[in-house]
Amino acid sequence: MTNPIPFIDLAAQQRRLGPDLRRALDAVLAHGQFILGPEVAELEGRLQDFCGAGHAVTCASGTDALLLGLMALEVGAGDAVLVPGFTFAATAEAVVLRGATPVFVDVRAADFNIDPDSLAQAVAAARQAGLRPRAVVPVDLFGQPADYDAIGVCAAEAGLAVLADAAQSFGARYRDRAVGTLGDVTAVSFFPSKPLGCYGDGGAVFTDNAELAGLLRSQRVHGQGADKNDNQRIGLNSRLDTLQAAVLLQKLTVLEEEHEARQAIAARYDEGLRALAGTPAVGNDRSSAWALYTLVLPEPQRDRVAASLAGQGIPTGVYYPRPLHRQPAYAAFPTAPGGLPVCERLAKQVLSLPMHPYLDGPTQARIVAAVRGALA
Ligand SMILES: *Cc1c(COP(=O)(O)O)cnc(C)c1O
Repeated sequence: MTNPIPFIDLAAQQRRLGPDLRRALDAVLAHGQFILGPEVAELEGRLQDFCGAGHAVTCASGTDALLLGLMALEVGAGDAVLVPGFTFAATAEAVVLRGATPVFVDVRAADFNIDPDSLAQAVAAARQAGLRPRAVVPVDLFGQPADYDAIGVCAAEAGLAVLADAAQSFGARYRDRAVGTLGDVTAVSFFPSKPLGCYGDGGAVFTDNAELAGLLRSQRVHGQGADKNDNQRIGLNSRLDTLQAAVLLQKLTVLEEEHEARQAIAARYDEGLRALAGTPAVGNDRSSAWALYTLVLPEPQRDRVAASLAGQGIPTGVYYPRPLHRQPAYAAFPTAPGGLPVCERLAKQVLSLPMHPYLDGPTQARIVAAVRGALA
């Protein structure tokens, strides 16, 4: 019973997709349009339909999706962009690459997402520091949408654009809206381990605003205008490979089914562990895409459980062991007044368990038993 369990099982998904996947790749090899080939436009249409956004513009990664979103919103030097302190580095990195200043905001322990009260305080602090608050980047951490209505109230008062970092949440819903429509602009990642992942790097930007969509299409190809010899603005080389679009078209056909499977798996974890550990709370007005299933365990239990599971061939992950404002690259940027106590605490207490749509009952029972044993 000690054969290793995968944290995310892409091989099982490949078996589920079957020979159609190879056929889709072969079709690209045959037509040879590796950059912006027909699969890219087809995928963009399907992504729009899937989430109901007006426009989907694919690009080279989730990080570039954030960067392109900030470029389209014309965020730059002197601007403050409010970001949660408990997230992957890319959320703040894109801000710094634009020459703007990230201002770190605390999160709520209940859902790991940006705290609207801390946000309002951080906006005031940014103004006092002589910065122009321009945008907020809520992150849908571990797959659960942030509280977009509360964030929207604060954003409207402060004149902020909302750039949703939905790298982990594509497929989830908030109230009656799908991820992809929750911000003015939404950035999604297709990194292999995300809820909708390709076989390399990829991303997409969603918006209902036609003008922003036009800017995004130009900016992902060197700021191109009428044709490739017309450069209207500074841009990037950030296109989604046609081969990756072909992969994503196949994976999109099973995303709904995978999303349902993740709900059942999360419910089984909840049931097995809720009496012993802090299990993730999903608001009853939203669903999670369950990119990760993350427990909260007081010190020193967290590290003890992780070590015990590792000894039994069960991988775990700590997302994230250090809040961003404590990373050397970001330590000099401002934070909400009073610091980010919830981020600091969660960094010491979170532990993510294996999570993917193909996690079968017996394997999951083995994981639950191992966690329970380690906590006993
Ligand atoms: C993965 C991730 C990103 C970056 O996506 P890439 O496709 O790896 O560039 C950004 N933000 C969050 C919260 C992520 O989890």
